[in-house]
Order: sequence, then C-alpha cells, then structure tokens
Amino acid sequence: MLSLNRQAIALISDHADPAADIGCEEAGGQNVYVRHVGETLASLGWHVDMFTRKVHADDAVIVQHSPHCRTIRLKAGAETYIPRDRLFEHMPEFVSSFQSFQRTQGLNYPLIHTNYWLSAWAGLELQKTSGIQLVHTYHSLGAVKYQSLVEIPQVASTRLRVEREILERANCVVATSPQEQETLRSLVSTRGQIEIIPCGTDTDNFRLTSKAHARTQLKLGTHEKVILYVGRFDERKGIETLVRAFALLKEKDLQNLKLIIVGGSSANMPDGDERKRIENIVNDLGLTDYTLFAGRIGHDILPLYYTAADVCVIPSYYEPFGLVAIEAMACGVPVVASNVGGLKFTIIPEETGLLVEPKDIEAFANGIHRILFDDLWVRKMRKQASANVNQRFSWTGVTIQLSELYRHVLARSIMHEQPWSYKVPSINKSA
Ligand code: UDP
Repeated sequence: MLSLNRQAIALISDHADPAADIGCEEAGGQNVYVRHVGETLASLGWHVDMFTRKVHADDAVIVQHSPHCRTIRLKAGAETYIPRDRLFEHMPEFVSSFQSFQRTQGLNYPLIHTNYWLSAWAGLELQKTSGIQLVHTYHSLGAVKYQSLVEIPQVASTRLRVEREILERANCVVATSPQEQETLRSLVSTRGQIEIIPCGTDTDNFRLTSKAHARTQLKLGTHEKVILYVGRFDERKGIETLVRAFALLKEKDLQNLKLIIVGGSSANMPDGDERKRIENIVNDLGLTDYTLFAGRIGHDILPLYYTAADVCVIPSYYEPFGLVAIEAMACGVPVVASNVGGLKFTIIPEETGLLVEPKDIEAFANGIHRILFDDLWVRKMRKQASANVNQRFSWTGVTIQLSELYRHVLARSIMHEQPWSYKVPSINKSA
C-alpha cells in the first residue's frame, strides 16, 4: 500500500532476495541486511520497495513484508538460478523491468540504495536518465576477492570498473566498517563520498538467554564442548581451517568435543561442491562421529544454536563485515575469528573474542582451546560480547543512521549540491 504522505525509496539487491531463505549458496548477509534495513526504514516512516531478480517461476512477484515494505521480483533472464558471475548480461533487462514497474505503478523513486556491484551498475544506468540520488553498499569487493582467487572470472574487469564508478559517481557510499573504508580508498578510488554505517542485528532475537535451555532444546548434553560454525559453504569462508583445527584439538585427546556446522542448502544447489569437499575432509580426518552438519537453520531457531555453543568460529579468508560474528556475540558466545575486514571492527580481542591470522590452523586451535577451558574469563566475555553488540549494532540504531543519511542526500539535491556536511548520528538504542 503506497501512502501519499510517505517518501517512496527503492533498495536494489540484484541476486540477494530479501524475501528468500537465508544460509544457502546465494542467500547470506546481504539478504539479511536488505530485509532488515527495508523493514526498519518502513517503521521509521519511509515507503520501501526492495527489488531483486526473480529466480523461481513459482515465486510471488510481490511479497508484502509490512504495509509499507515489499519485495518486488523483476524479470531478468530465465527464472532459474544463475550464478552471480553470469548475471551481468541480464542486468539491462533488470533495468528495463525496473523502469516498466515504476511506470505502471506511477512511481518515481528520488533515491535508490544499491547493494553489490551488479545493482550498482543498474543504479548508474538509471542515474543517466533520471535525477535519482544514489547510495551504495558493496557487501563484497572484487578488488579484495580477486587477490585470493586462482581463477579470475571473465567478468572481473567489468566488476572492477563498476566498483570504481559507483564510488566516484554515487551521492554516497556506505562502508560498513573503517576497514572497508580504508580498502576502498587504497584499492578502488580516492574520489567520492564515503560514510561508515555498520551492519546490524536483531537484538530482540539474538540476545542472552539460558544455555541449559538451549542445550535441552537441541538435545545436547551439558558436558559437551560445542564448537559452532554458521554460514554459507563457500571456500572463502575457510571452513577447512576450522575442521583441521578441530582435528588438532582431537589429537590432544580432549573429551566431549563436538563440531556443529550450520548452513548450506539441502537441495542440489552449487554449495554442494564445497559441502562435499568439507565432508570428505571431515571423513578423512576421522571426525565424522564428532561433527554434525545441521543444514540451513532459520533465524527463528538459530539463537538456540548460538546460545548452546561454547565458542563460535569464523575462519573466513576475507569478510567485509560478518553478521555471524555479531549474532553470536549478541547471544553471549565468544568468537574466534580471522583477523580480517569487518571482523577487526566488530570483535574486541580478549574482551568479546579472539582474532587470529586466517588459515593459521594452529592459532585457531589454540584460540578455541583457550575459550573452551577458561570458565571465569568466558563468563565475563559473555556479558561483554552481548553488551558490545547491543550498544553498537542494533538494526534500529543502524537504520536511523541510514535514514538520516538519505534525508541529507535528498535535502542536498534540492539545495543544489551544497558542500557535503553530513555527520553520522551516534547510535542510541532507545531512539
Ligand atoms: N544464516 C542463516 N542460516 C544458516 C546460515 C547462515 O540464517 O543456516 C545467516 C546468518 O545468520 C547471517 C547470514 O546468513 O545472518 C550470513 O551473513 P554473513 O555476513 O556472516 O556472511 P555472508 O553470507 O554475507 O558472506
């Protein structure tokens, strides 16, 4: 329902459907980000339309999340799964579908917030023919990703060019951490406006609750030492490092260790290859009896897994922000994570978790061991971790910052390009 006294804005998230199930190959942090930002912006008084590509023929074209927030699935290529690296050729159709939706609905969004480089391309195209204001969040950066890839996809040069253009031509780019801002400046461009506004988490859902209750619900014994991974099966997530660290801990003859791996699709999706590879390593190392592949778990049940765990491990080779870290800490679970990207920003070493070098199997094993066997320290960390997230990363606080940014960008467009004078408001949870 479109209300006349609400400003309509569009969020574009080409491949990451805000209405999709999270945790499979193509559904992860970006879906969660766009969905929560969209819904919270609507609760702050905007009318929010979130656009994504229609992937399945039987998916609804429009999903209404709340009276003023909906997902709209646009035709762009065949209605079937297409990997991100092959989506670019369908983006011109995505743009025409977007324009024809606007026309038929009599809408004209003055501001579009694009997510990921493919959406950035769409935003830049729309900017050529209309006076829209553009805000962009990267979620992943080609310039960083390609550094660690052996096989660079064909689309790489286009992606790098679009990632530079959006920084130089958007009204503002949102970096989700100071580390991302630094990377953008050193690897992408020294031009363009950047503001730091982090990702958030639902602190009503992910919060401190009883560990004993969570263990009973999940049928886990009180004596078990539970090491948890949550996320997609993607090589850059470094699950292999965790499995090998787990094997090192088992070699020390430690009792009652259990590794739970949450995520992945159950259907025949492409994450199957990485999952099979990890399952083979688990098998080869003789860890099958101590490892549980829990599959994809929704956000309704996920808090139980975090709460039941003794430690959550995030062994990514690269992580622009890392929602899993703040979800785990919000539930009071200390994390052992790679010292990369946004994880350096969200985790306070020795207070809410530990940071170790990515791929350093021994360092991960040592970090996990320290947390598993120091009760007193962990009890302190549990409270600190949860308080840290509540203070810095609630969706409400984060979205208020985005909302203020949009208002500034729109006001500036009316006042004919006044100098940039925006100051990110501080997060106040009670706001
Ligand atoms: N996730 C989930 N169920 C799963 C696995 C993952 O809901 O089975 C969610 C997880 O809770 C988090 C998101 O997927 O909200 C992953 O975001 P993150 O930023 O950590 O990684 P990304 O997928 O963006 O690389």
